[in-house]
Amino acid sequence: MMARDSYSDSPKRQANPGLRVRQFSCAERARLLDLYSSATGDFSYLVARLGDIALSYEIDAFNRAWEQCENARKYCADIRKQIYSHLDEHRCALELRERQFER
Ligand SMILES: [Zn+2]
Repeated sequence: MMARDSYSDSPKRQANPGLRVRQFSCAERARLLDLYSSATGDFSYLVARLGDIALSYEIDAFNRAWEQCENARKYCADIRKQIYSHLDEHRCALELRERQFER
């Protein structure tokens, strides 16, 4: 499934509920969102696996799985940061005030 553009959920957007987002096609934005979709899927898988490993009571395996989860979580956060940076720099999801939509 293609990732939904989550910019409308960004902290900046939430701080400005009167803003709408206008987007145009952008290959880099699409690439980053696909990467984020894949990374979050991997993170979800690793967290589920961590739960299974926890039931084994094998501390070394649990610690390795925990570290993998942490790395996956940090990778997701890094991609999210790249997405916001890209949107801020490229302006391919322009924020416009509600008033600008009124005619
Ligand atoms: Zn862009």
